[in-house]
Amino acid sequence: MKVDIEESSGFCFGVKNAVTIAEDVLRDGETVYCLGEIVHNDIEVARLTSLGLKAITYEEFATLRDNKVLIRAHGEPSSTYEKARENNITIIDATCPIVRSMQEKIRKVAELSRDEKGQIVIYGKEGHAEVIGLMSAAGPGGILVTGKGDLRRIDYSRPVYLFSQTTKSKVQYDVVAEIIRLNMEKVSPDHSSSNLKVHNTICRQVSEREPRLREFASKHDVIVFVSGRNSSNGRMLFEVCLKVNPRSYFISSPDELKRKWFNDSASAGICGATSTPGWLIQEVADIVAAI
Ligand code: SF4
Repeated sequence: MKVDIEESSGFCFGVKNAVTIAEDVLRDGETVYCLGEIVHNDIEVARLTSLGLKAITYEEFATLRDNKVLIRAHGEPSSTYEKARENNITIIDATCPIVRSMQEKIRKVAELSRDEKGQIVIYGKEGHAEVIGLMSAAGPGGILVTGKGDLRRIDYSRPVYLFSQTTKSKVQYDVVAEIIRLNMEKVSPDHSSSNLKVHNTICRQVSEREPRLREFASKHDVIVFVSGRNSSNGRMLFEVCLKVNPRSYFISSPDELKRKWFNDSASAGICGATSTPGWLIQEVADIVAAI
């Protein structure tokens, strides 16, 4: 059986950057706290924990004084930075530059659109760390849209500035934008196009993977998708594979592999999310090749 790894699979630039920053700081041998898990992948988290990185909750963060705390690629709301200043905590900021620049953009648009009563609408997953940071940048008037049901929260007679969480599906984002445009057209036909500004904030590291994965999944008999179960990007990219290849399997660890998946197959494709370490994808590929 031929076994291929999808080339673009593995850590995106933002996660790679955060992990490199963590490894650099941990080289000094001191314990570094990380607000939340540095990456949605248990096996990689365990590796970094063994080097001295300790994931903490917001409640634990609030009790720390004079420590070092790493902020992961997803970024943080402004309240985290304020709390760090109050408690003399040194922030090691590994926020992905793409996320940081989106936070800045949202802040600026919220400020500039205040007089015209503009609404900042964020399409994303409720409770996701990146979304919490983006909503903080949007301010108290920000509207979170997790699906079509939330669109009723928008006042279609007022301007809308739409942003997406970086790891959402481009196809679904386009659908949400189109529904908003149609609703605005009903309310004010003359201003619908000028009243809606759709910001293209889906990260190319994710959006470019969708078509690549579609092609990759269609070319192999069996697909093994490696990702942490709590990675929203992993779930979304796995669905892309499953749609074109029903013999797609989601695993988070090599011991979940099943020999029977590969019966009567001439080729297997191994791929993963933006939070899946390259070494883990390689390990899975080696085991599949041995099967
Ligand atoms: S998916 Fe894109 S925006 Fe998100 S952390 Fe990775 S590089 Fe940054």
